[in-house]
Amino acid sequence: MRVAVIGAGIVGLACAEELVRCGHDVRVFDPDPGGGATRAAAGMLAPAGEAWHGETGLLRLGVASARLWPEYAARLQAASGVDVDLRTEGTLLIGQDHDDLQQVRRTLAVLSTEGIAFRELDRREARSDEPTLSRVAGAVLVPEDHNVNPRLVAEALLRLLGDRVIRARATVRDGGVAFANGTEFGCDAVVVATGAEARSLVPQVRPVRGETIRLRVIDRPSRVLRARVHGETVYVVPRAGGEVVVGASEEEHASEPVATLGAVVRLLHAARTLVPGLESAEVVEITARHRPGTPDNGPLLGPVEAPGPVRRVLAVGHYRGGVLLAPLTAQVVRAHVEGEHVPAVARPFGPGRFAARQDLTHAQGTQGRDAAS
Ligand SMILES: Cc1cc2nc3c(=O)[nH]c(=O)nc-3n(C[C@H](O)[C@H](O)[C@H](O)COP(=O)(O)OP(=O)(O)OC[C@H]3O[C@@H](n4cnc5c(N)ncnc54)[C@H](O)[C@@H]3O)c2cc1C
Repeated sequence: MRVAVIGAGIVGLACAEELVRCGHDVRVFDPDPGGGATRAAAGMLAPAGEAWHGETGLLRLGVASARLWPEYAARLQAASGVDVDLRTEGTLLIGQDHDDLQQVRRTLAVLSTEGIAFRELDRREARSDEPTLSRVAGAVLVPEDHNVNPRLVAEALLRLLGDRVIRARATVRDGGVAFANGTEFGCDAVVVATGAEARSLVPQVRPVRGETIRLRVIDRPSRVLRARVHGETVYVVPRAGGEVVVGASEEEHASEPVATLGAVVRLLHAARTLVPGLESAEVVEITARHRPGTPDNGPLLGPVEAPGPVRRVLAVGHYRGGVLLAPLTAQVVRAHVEGEHVPAVARPFGPGRFAARQDLTHAQGTQGRDAAS
C-alpha cells in the first residue's frame, strides 16, 4: 500500500519504519523531524513508575510495549548503526522524607495486582544501592522499568527511512495529504502522528507542557531515580557520556511551550537535594515541549471515519508515554492500515472510545502522581 505518515516524532517514525519493513511504500511528512515532544523526552520506559489507580489498561499497554523494547532497540541498532543507549538497570522510586515515601508506596498495590516485580529498600539499603543519593527515607526498586535515549532512537529511525522523510507540513485531504504550495500526495492510507498538534483534527488531544534539563556530571547515578522530594516530583535519568536528564514539569498550557524560571528552579532544587553531587554539574540544555494529553491519559490508536476511500488511522495522544509506547504503537498502526488483527491489549484505545463522551476534553487528573515523564 502507499501510505503517508504525517508527523515524524518518535511515534510517526516508528509507524513508518514498521510499514516500510512490511513492504509498504511510505512517505513521512514533517517540517522538523524529531523536533516535537520527542526532543524533550527523558526516555524512561516506565510502565510501573507511571502506574496509577484506575489506569490498568494503560499499564498493561505499557508493559506490553516495554517488553518489545530490548529486541526493538537491538534491531534498530543493528540496522542503522546508531547505539540508542538502552539501559536495563531498572529504576528506583524514592521518598525523600516519610510523607514522600508514603506517597511513593501508594501505587505498590497496583503493581502487586498486575504481577509487576518490585522490592522495597529501607534508608540504608537505598543508600548502599545508589551511593549518589542524599539521606532519603526509603525507596522501591523496580527492576523492569528501563530507559533509552529518544533522540538517538529518532536518529536511528530517520537513517533507516532515508529520503522517505520529507521536510514539509501536511494536512489531511480526501485523497491523501496536501501541502502549503497546493500540491497533493495521493495514497491508500494516511497515518496521523502529529503529537500535541493533533488537536486541530482530534479535539480530545490537548497540549501539556513539560520541561527537561540536560546536565553533565562526573559521578552520575547508576540507574533512573524517580523521586518525591518534600512534595516536589523529580527524576534524574542517566545517559551515556556523563549526561543526566532532570525532569519534568507538567502544566496545562496551550500557547508556545517555553521553559520558565519557576519550573526550572523547582526541578533543579529537588534534583540537587536528591543527588547532592549535581551541585557542580554543567547545565547543557533546557528544553520545553508539549506532551499530547488525552482525557484518560491513554493514546488514540486506530481508524477514524473519512469521506473518501483513503483509510485514515490515528496514532496520537501518547501523553507521558510516547517513547515507551512507540514499538507497540507501530505494530498496532500497521495492523489497522492492513486491516489485520489488532493485539487485544490495544483494543481499548480506539479513537471511538470518546464518542459517547464528547464533553471530555480534559484529563481526569494526574495529581498525586510521581515525577511526570
Ligand atoms: C518533558 C517531557 C518528558 C517526557 N518524558 C518521557 C519519558 O521519559 N518516556 C516516555 O515514554 N515519554 C515521555 N514523554 C512523552 C513523549 O515525549 C511523547 O509522548 C512523544 O514524544 C509523543 O510522540 P509523537 O511522535 O506523537 O509526538 P512528537 O514527538 O511531538 O512529534 C510530533 C511531530 O509532528 C509534527 N507535526 C505536527 N503537525 C504536523 C503537520 N501538520 N505536518 C507535518 N508534521 C507535523 C511535529 O513537527 C512533530 O515533529 C515526555 C514528554 C515531555 C514533554
